[in-house]
Amino acid sequence: MQRSDGRAPDQLRPVSFELDVAPHASGSVVVAMGNTRVICAAMIEDSVPRWMKEQNVTGGWLTAEYSMLPYSTAPRKQRDVTRGKLDGRSTEIQRLIGRSLRAVLNLEKLGPRTMWIDCDVLQADGGTRTAAITGASVAVAIACGRLLEEKRIAELPMRSLVGAVSAGILDGNALVDLDYAEDKAVSVDLNLVATESGELVEVQASGEEATFTQTQLDQMLALGHNGIVQLIAQQRAVLERFQITVQ
Ligand code: UDP
Repeated sequence: MQRSDGRAPDQLRPVSFELDVAPHASGSVVVAMGNTRVICAAMIEDSVPRWMKEQNVTGGWLTAEYSMLPYSTAPRKQRDVTRGKLDGRSTEIQRLIGRSLRAVLNLEKLGPRTMWIDCDVLQADGGTRTAAITGASVAVAIACGRLLEEKRIAELPMRSLVGAVSAGILDGNALVDLDYAEDKAVSVDLNLVATESGELVEVQASGEEATFTQTQLDQMLALGHNGIVQLIAQQRAVLERFQITVQ
């Protein structure tokens, strides 16, 4: 079975991280997975949401926003603000990004702060939500590293790095890291968010006008986990340049 770009079923697209692209952010990165490119930035605000104060919840909070820039797709995608309506897909994705990062963050150790994660898609070619999570993990690690460096916190609040990748079933075979053409062609679509040690953060699998077996699910999870191990190894390598070590 031939993939659209000739990759092996278990092969990720070329991955890269370009750090500190947004100097006003505490941590920022442009993550690329093939032709999908997302700018992910983390900014820290020294306050917490009102609901936390009202409910006497201690520690900090992390929240995320996601959008596709108008020129990330052809034809041009109208901005939500111009359309006057929030995109349901974007809302779903930004909640996934927030949950994924909160899962690996010790909010108590973050202190009474809010970490804002902004993920904006520069170029969309499938897997933008998973690339956003993988990039946000790096942006959060850098932002936490800077808080520590500035002695605003005593310990790094990030428990572990987190990565995400898509997988799917095409003609009965499992594939990892789908591009747009593959995403349209697959009968089953899976988004996996996990840590390097294989702890699951979120698994979203759905049959698109099709069903799938437990064996196929296991195959997608195995490919996905293998991909995430590679992504986190690359995250660790770029973070080393900033002398940031996260589990
Ligand atoms: N896409 C698009 N316009 C949209 C939504 C999606 O062009 O409004 C394309 C884009 O390439 C995206 C792909 O469809 O990456 C798959 O979209 P999906 O909703 O599955 O999310 P993703 O795979 O990006 O996380």
